[in-house]
Formats: sequence, C-alpha cells, structure tokens
Amino acid sequence: MEDLRDFIRDRVRRDLADGVVEGVVTRFPPEPNGYLTIGHAKSICLNFGIAEEFGGNTYLRFDDTNPLKESQEFVDAIRRNIDWLGFDWGTVTFASDYFDDLYRFAEELIDNGLAYVDSQSAQDVAATRGSFTEPGRESPYRNRPIDENRELFRRMRAGEFADGEHVLRARIDMGAANLVMRDPVLYRIRHATHHRTGDDWCIYPMYDFTHCLCDALEGVTHSLCTLEFENNRELYDWVLDNTGVEFHPPQIEFSRLNLEYTVMSTRFFRMLVERGGVAGWDDPRLPTLSGLRRRGYTPEMIRDFCSRIGVTKQENRVEMELLEFCARNALEDAAPRGMAVLDPLPVTITNYPSDEDEVLEAPWHQKRPELGTRRITFGRSLAIERDDFMESPPRRYRRLSPGEMVRLRHGFIIRCDEVIRDVDGEAVELRCAYFPESKSGSDTSGLRPKGVVHWVSRSSGVSADVRLYDRLFSVAAPSPDEMESQLNPESLVARKALVEPALVEAEASRFQFERLGYFYKDPVEHSAATPVFNRIVTLRDSYRP
Ligand code: ATP
Ligand code: MG
Repeated sequence: MEDLRDFIRDRVRRDLADGVVEGVVTRFPPEPNGYLTIGHAKSICLNFGIAEEFGGNTYLRFDDTNPLKESQEFVDAIRRNIDWLGFDWGTVTFASDYFDDLYRFAEELIDNGLAYVDSQSAQDVAATRGSFTEPGRESPYRNRPIDENRELFRRMRAGEFADGEHVLRARIDMGAANLVMRDPVLYRIRHATHHRTGDDWCIYPMYDFTHCLCDALEGVTHSLCTLEFENNRELYDWVLDNTGVEFHPPQIEFSRLNLEYTVMSTRFFRMLVERGGVAGWDDPRLPTLSGLRRRGYTPEMIRDFCSRIGVTKQENRVEMELLEFCARNALEDAAPRGMAVLDPLPVTITNYPSDEDEVLEAPWHQKRPELGTRRITFGRSLAIERDDFMESPPRRYRRLSPGEMVRLRHGFIIRCDEVIRDVDGEAVELRCAYFPESKSGSDTSGLRPKGVVHWVSRSSGVSADVRLYDRLFSVAAPSPDEMESQLNPESLVARKALVEPALVEAEASRFQFERLGYFYKDPVEHSAATPVFNRIVTLRDSYRP
C-alpha cells in the first residue's frame, strides 16, 4: 500500500525527523458507555495506523470516569471490535488505573492555589459561567484558604458529603475569553459503584483533567482528538503546565466522521436499543462496528473506507455511497454467485418430460473459474421473481410476459404460454414451455430471448429468511431533535425467499444473489435448517469515488 499522507502524518514525520520525539506513541481513548461506531473506526485507524506505520505503540485506554454510564459489557465489546478490525493493542489501560495519581495532582493544584472546593450548587456554577459576551462571576468560595480546600477535598474523597454538595474547580480566570477556562470543574462527587474500582472512590475526575494527565503519564507523543475539543486544548495545556508532569503531549484535532443517512451518537443508539427500536447494538442497520459486522461488512472494507475518507480538519458528511462502494468493491471479485428468488412466482414447465429434476453445473463466479462450480437443478417446477413477469409490459421490456421468451440464467430458454390467476386476477402460476436445445453453454436453438432472469427450482429450493436492510434514516442529514421521527420505516424488510441449496451448503458466507445484491449468512441466526441471509448492499450504482 502506498504511504498515507495527511496533516497529522506529516507532523509525525516532521517531529521524528527533527528529533522532537524519539518514537511515536498514540492512544485510542473510548469511553465504555456504548458500542463503537464507524466514526470511532476513523480514530482507531488513525491512531493504530500511525503507530504501525512509524514503528510505535498505541495504548487502548478506556476513559472510565463516569460510573453511571459505563460498564464491563461495553469494555468487552470495544475490545472485540478493535480485535476484529485487525489492530494489535500494545497496552490496555484504564483512566481508573490512574485515580491515585490524579488525586495527587489535584492536591498539588490546591497547594499551589490553583484549585478550590466550590460549595455552590451545580445550577449556580452553571449560571455564573457567563457567556460569549459576558464574563463569568467568581464563586464566593473562590478564595478559600488552601488548608480548608485541602481538608474539604480530603473529606469529599472520604465520602462525607452527598452528590453535588461540593466540586473541585480549577482557579483560572472567570473572565477568560475561552469559556472552558472559567474555573472548570475538575472533580465531582458521585456515590456510585464503578465497574472496576467498585466503591473505592466516590469522587470522580472530569474528562479535561483526566485526559491530558493520562496522556502525559503514558508518554503519548501525539494526542489526536476530534475538532469539538479544540477549545479544550487550552485547558489541556494549562493542566499539564501546572502539575508536575514531565511530559507534555501536543493535542492535535481532526474532523469527526459523519455519514449521510445515519448519525454517530452513542446516546441515541443506546436509547434505540433500550426501547427496542432496533434488535440490539449489533442490529445490521446501525453504523456500529458490531452492526456492520453482522450486516456482512469485513474489516478490510472498513479500513479501506477509512483510508479513502482521509484525515483533515474539514467538517463534512461523507456519502453513504462511499461505504457501499467499499463493500461492492471487495465483494465484486470475492463473492461467489448464486440465485435466490425473494418473491417467488411459480413457473411450471409443461413440456418437461420427467417429474425428476436434472442437474446443471453453474460457475460460482463467471470471471473466476478457479472458484469451481455448483450444482443447480432444473425441472418441471420452478419459481421466478414476481417482478420479472408483467402481463402487459411496456415496449422494450426485457423480462417475461405472455407469449414472450426469456433465458433462465445458467438454464434454458422458456416461453410463457399461459397465466393462471387467482380470484382477484393476480397471477399465481405461469405455464411455460422450455426449449431443450437452448441449454446455457450449448445453445443450438437459434432463439433470441428478450432477457435473462434468475430462478430457483421449487423442488430443490430451500426456504430462507432474507432481510433487506436499508438506510437507518430517511434523510441524509438527520437533525438532532427530530431523529426519532426521521428514522426510515423501511430500513428492514423481511422476506421469505427461495434459495438454491448450494448457497446454504457452501462454506462461504458472503454471496452475490444474482441481480439482487450481496448477502451474508447471519452469523447469529443462520443455520442449515433455518437459513437467514442479510443484505449487505444492493448491486452497483453509478457512484465512483
Ligand atoms: P459519543 O458521544 O458517540 O460517545 P465520543 O466522541 O464521546 O462519541 P469516545 O468514546 O469519547 O466517543 O471517543 C473515543 C475516541 O474516538 C475519541 O478520540 C473520539 O474523538 C473518537 N471518535 C468518536 N467519534 C468519532 C467520529 N465520529 N469520527 C472520528 N473520531 C471519533
Ligand atoms: Mg462518548
């Protein structure tokens, strides 16, 4: 693969060349409050990718400072996701590993008059922060003596106060232009059991205090985060400048991945999962890595996608077509072909001489003979797609209609002689003649059928659940307050399909159903007895990246 180039990699190259750093250390710092999305994959590919490319190390560091939202389930899922993407984490750490260190750093700030215990209510703290146009107001507790701050902070830790009674704040500048710098909260009281530290702590450090110090303690050389933390960089630097850490990593921001027709919100997905709006975190409609995996996406596709979107500071929304392109691009050559009929219309071959089916050989992949062949059967009782028949077709219709001929893919040419209808007049069976000398590969009939359609033998075909997944939202850019009403009601259409048995028997799990799309045997529910296929993506569209 050619070298990736972007402003962050350029910076890393420069820092190495100039001796600013001796080696590269990055980190990926997820909060274990949900499953990872393809947005996180962008950050994973960047952090792990850079370490791989420059011979460095990456910490997988769980940012577990909010016990109310975090759990071991999410920690385990995140590890599985990263593993699946194919990245090796050098070291797994937790922000909670550093709780003792962080507490000492907080004491250091207090001792230097740079932090104080504020006893205002959370509402008052918020109300006195000011705005872009107005400075904040200083807390009446801002000038507490150092000894009193130290003692109160100790008692906060000892569990002597209820949630919300006090917070520890940095003593910076209530008039700072950057609101983040107006005496930010560093610690709050939370009487909650933590999934790793249990009840050892009842005060928990805030993100802005924790993150920079963990980076520094781990010797992270390039701390990469998304643009919404740009304003927090000043605080990141302030904390490191004012505590006795030796190492001061630079924070470098890049734009988040946003994708059309979906969102990247852990909170919204959590709500959907909890309310049963989707089947779980691995619902194939979600852009979670678990969902994409279950849908049939491979790590290669996701990594290809991440390298195509690149890394910049431009905020944008990537077209869903690019992700779909990456799937098709990988499956085009790799996926064996087969036939499935999603909405079967029975076809009876009236002149077929026997009740027994005959076996035909069909290639698994027209352009890849080395994949071998599969056996399909042809006989009296078949099915075609209801869509592939029309009673009174428009001109140039290329499928089946009364009196017309089509070729059955890998089979014979048939002609529709009679339509059997139900009481409502709807076609329920087609009676057709076939031309024995028109067999695919050895056609001597000289006939010119209108088109080619896929089909399955009803006597050997297997009934399968086929799930047609589509976009999660009906609009390209869901708006934050209307997300629920903008969900696509057709994001899942379930069908009882008829599929050729070779698809179920084959070891492969991803196939092209000819003319329909790429499908994946559902890794949880599929079995030979009850086949379940998920649609990964439809067949081509005109998109070119
Ligand atoms: P959410 O609010 O959905 O949980 P987050 O940004 O809070 O998202 P974290 O678990 O804190 O999620 O993120 C871990 C890392 O992944 C961070 O460095 C974050 O910047 C990065 N990340 C998260 N979402 C995206 C995204 N959509 N594009 C790029 N990077 C992302
Ligand atoms: Mg988060």
